Amino acid sequence: MKRIVVLGSGFAGMQAVVELERLFHRDANYEILLVSDQNFVLFTPLLPQIASSQIDPRHIAQAIRDVRGRRRFRFLRSTVQSLDLANRRVETTAGPVAYDSLVIALGSRTNYFNTPGARENTFDFKTLEDAVVLREHILDLCEHADHVADAAERRRLLTIAVVGGGYTGVELLTDLQDFLFNYAARRYRGITRDSFRLLLIEATDKILATIHPKLRAHAMHRLGREGIEIRYNSRVTQVFDGGIEINGADKIPAATVVWTAGVRAHELVEALPGPHDRAGRACVNEYLQLESFPEVFVAGDSAVAADVSLREEAPQVAPVAISHGKLAARNIAHRERKQPLESYRYVSEGMLVSLGARDAVVSVAGLQVHGYFAWLFWNAVHLYKLVSLKKQFQVAADWALATIFPRDAAIIRRPRACKFCEKAAGEASRASTA
Ligand SMILES: Cc1cc2nc3c(=O)[nH]c(=O)nc-3n(C[C@H](O)[C@H](O)[C@H](O)COP(=O)(O)OP(=O)(O)OC[C@H]3O[C@@H](n4cnc5c(N)ncnc54)[C@H](O)[C@@H]3O)c2cc1C
Repeated sequence: MKRIVVLGSGFAGMQAVVELERLFHRDANYEILLVSDQNFVLFTPLLPQIASSQIDPRHIAQAIRDVRGRRRFRFLRSTVQSLDLANRRVETTAGPVAYDSLVIALGSRTNYFNTPGARENTFDFKTLEDAVVLREHILDLCEHADHVADAAERRRLLTIAVVGGGYTGVELLTDLQDFLFNYAARRYRGITRDSFRLLLIEATDKILATIHPKLRAHAMHRLGREGIEIRYNSRVTQVFDGGIEINGADKIPAATVVWTAGVRAHELVEALPGPHDRAGRACVNEYLQLESFPEVFVAGDSAVAADVSLREEAPQVAPVAISHGKLAARNIAHRERKQPLESYRYVSEGMLVSLGARDAVVSVAGLQVHGYFAWLFWNAVHLYKLVSLKKQFQVAADWALATIFPRDAAIIRRPRACKFCEKAAGEASRASTA
């Protein structure tokens, strides 16, 4: 029996395994094994709405066992530790896994560009856990700021700086703004809208660099109108506990700094033999293969075209990962059946960016739309793209409930897990022993 192994259960890996399942459905000579450290597929476009308490975290995570249903691909929840391409073996925390064909779809990780203090003092925003942790941290700060008499200290506690003016930074900050201004400022007696300072820090002279200028102008106008400060040409040169330094001079106190400024390839992908681009992604041929290992395919955020002229075209987004996953699966089937392989061709599906409540910018089929109808379109597309009917119902229900009831501000962690509570408890015990 031959074994096809897929690493990673993100958009690319999951699509690869579903397609392989379809292609080898009636063939008992093949075993399909998915290996991932998470047992769900995460719908990342809705992550900002987890941080802003709009939807329940589990509603954007589809369990792999449910995708699989009664089909025949196997799943191993385990962390990949190393890849031995010469011996066609993957080392995992559950032991070695041998393969005949391999799809590497391990995604990407945050790129801190060697900024001092960035890794230690910023919040990452890539995983479901990141979004949950950020949400609870911000709610913790609101709980504490509510009782702080000193206005400057309250402002510091309620200053949120998001580093990176790409679509993730913009969507996160606009969703947070909506939550903080329309929920927190109304329910916490010691907090008003003016207590918050929301900053978008961008190293270049524009946000949403890849979007149509007309839509960018609308987004800039909307952010400004909603009280979000955009700092252009501002390179973060240091992040310290309690704030950031910009362009080596300007220090801004901020209790929350979120880093969405860039990504680089997974460390296992960076260690693959052969050429890589500047972000560490593996260079693949037009069939998504590693040139010296034709049985190894790389897909999604981990892969970049070896042909430099094709690189600019394919951004690191979900539709690219999905089509990579599908193509890698089809090309594995073609190889096994001794058929010619298919080439990857990037087809843009447009660009959709939410700007918080009832506003979005949409660039699709040559049309540039913004405002309420663009926002409705954004919602419809994302609902449609959710993995299953159950998740679609859950998210639709969350959205509907959010229009009627207040957001959910419950903090799940115990107070001892919160550094502000620890500080308060320390001060209280010092006072009682004095
Ligand atoms: C906050 C955020 C918002 C986004 N919004 C959008 C959007 O609106 N539209 C859009 O098109 N794109 C969006 N993206 C980008 C999109 O999510 C990525 O391009 C896409 O997820 C890439 O798919 P992938 O399969 O390559 O990697 P991923 O989806 O990252 O999957 C990688 C998989 O590998 C697993 N893995 C990693 N390391 C190991 C290991 N050592 N062992 C085992 N398993 C491992 C992970 O658990 C995961 O299952 C967003 C991304 C983020 C972070």
